Amino acid sequence: MEEEELQEKEFFSWEEFSVFFDAWCERRKALFFVKSSMPLSKCKWATAPPRPDVVEALKYSSVRLACKDFRGSSKPDQGGQQKGCSASIVLKLSPNKDRLIVIECQLVHNHALCPIEFAYYFKKGHLLANSCLPVRTTNRISKKFVGPPDVRRLLSYCKSRDHGVLDVLTVLDGLFASDPGAKVKLVFMEDKVIIQTIFFLSSCMMALSRLFPLMLFFDRMVGLNEEFDLYSVLCVDGAGCGREVAYCLTRQETPDVLRFMLASLVQSVPEVKLQVRCVTLGVEIAHLEAVKELLPNARVQICRSQVLEMLFSKAQELGATEDKRIWPLLCRLAAAKSPAAYQEAVQEMKAILPQRFVRYFLRHWQPRSEMWVQFWAFETARNVNACELLKQHQSRLLAALSPSPTVAQCMMDLLAMQEGSEAQELDERELATHYRAICKPEPAGLIEEELGFARHSLYHFQETAEGYLLRDGVSEFTMDRALTRCSCSIYTSSLLPCRHLFATRLRIGVALFDPGLLHRNQAALLSAC
Ligand SMILES: [Zn+2]
Ligand SMILES: [Zn+2]
Repeated sequence: MEEEELQEKEFFSWEEFSVFFDAWCERRKALFFVKSSMPLSKCKWATAPPRPDVVEALKYSSVRLACKDFRGSSKPDQGGQQKGCSASIVLKLSPNKDRLIVIECQLVHNHALCPIEFAYYFKKGHLLANSCLPVRTTNRISKKFVGPPDVRRLLSYCKSRDHGVLDVLTVLDGLFASDPGAKVKLVFMEDKVIIQTIFFLSSCMMALSRLFPLMLFFDRMVGLNEEFDLYSVLCVDGAGCGREVAYCLTRQETPDVLRFMLASLVQSVPEVKLQVRCVTLGVEIAHLEAVKELLPNARVQICRSQVLEMLFSKAQELGATEDKRIWPLLCRLAAAKSPAAYQEAVQEMKAILPQRFVRYFLRHWQPRSEMWVQFWAFETARNVNACELLKQHQSRLLAALSPSPTVAQCMMDLLAMQEGSEAQELDERELATHYRAICKPEPAGLIEEELGFARHSLYHFQETAEGYLLRDGVSEFTMDRALTRCSCSIYTSSLLPCRHLFATRLRIGVALFDPGLLHRNQAALLSAC
């Protein structure tokens, strides 16, 4: 008898029960869900409470599982109303508080158990998945920005390390402690306590996107771990380097990440909406129409070298012979400097590549030629090499990330990389040596002191019509566009570069050693200069 198999059965962890019960349901094609439960962590004890490791393992002091059809259903094709099914199972903590015992089980359903319906609804592991936070909370949190109080509240609920949720919350708590202005979205899988997506950007990243909104780059990092993908949005800083302005960690196969990420970026930094003029995407990114919808002034480009590599491997796949002319031809195609040159290359393609490939090309890549052929490329004064920039970003990520990191570890690595990228660019001692070489000892000493303050303070930046505005929480300082003058008393009294000039230069990638900073104070210079 089925009841006998379950009645009085004991389990020493919720996981043990979940695994057992999943298999049990699969054999019977029965669908159960947790109708009510009492978490152990919320119990009050008259006698000694169970040990913490037991609380962690068992999770509940009581659980009632009910048949999916407990409410009944009305299926018109089966002639009218069906009464609710009363099949149910109850588990309770044992009197000596070390295991869960099935104390009640009623397994007679008032309906047939349908294998097709079972296959459709059954999700292996769902009992385990729902055991950490109340699903109501995670559903509410999803799709909006979470703040420090949300994270602390979630942390107070979260008593188990399941699915890395606790670890992620702990990282977020740390992020908010050091950067209360950081923006974070935490999306849970519907009705589960499993993280689907995390979007985040720090205050510094927001400042960068405000300063350099003209061109953005969006790409996916390949091979983060088995479950998650990492997407980044980059901008180009004053020194022409790619800088991260937003990250998104999301489960593989999550649809439409581009739209979600751009929308979240615009919600975080509304100013960029109309300022972005060009977005360059990795070749495999889909739903490009999201760019126009969210950034109406931006045009879409696809990374040319990625298109090139993709076309080349597609040609092999579609039966191209080994022909030394193919690669150079594709290169000429992508690098065409006029419509005529492009057309010429297309004609040549028809001669040396298989028809199947040509058809594929004409269907997928010809209509989008404006997005990847050099002639139609987004013209910029700074002549940024998009492909190189994305490649550099990939290798920076590979160097910074632990091998196959968990989501929490990955976030920590990325945040450390952000700090590291500034630390790397700022070698105070070396800079001070350069200044000593051209300045008298006293002003050189003052400059060194200011260099020391460039990194440690939390400044807020803003670009203005005249140059830059920097807030340190107490005062505001204005700087000219060339970043050689500041309104602060340090600068105005000494005419020597101050911490604000250095901090702003550091953030936006302008050289920190710059003799131009001393033009207004010739007296500070060594006579040899
Ligand atoms: Zn039933
Ligand atoms: Zn200053």
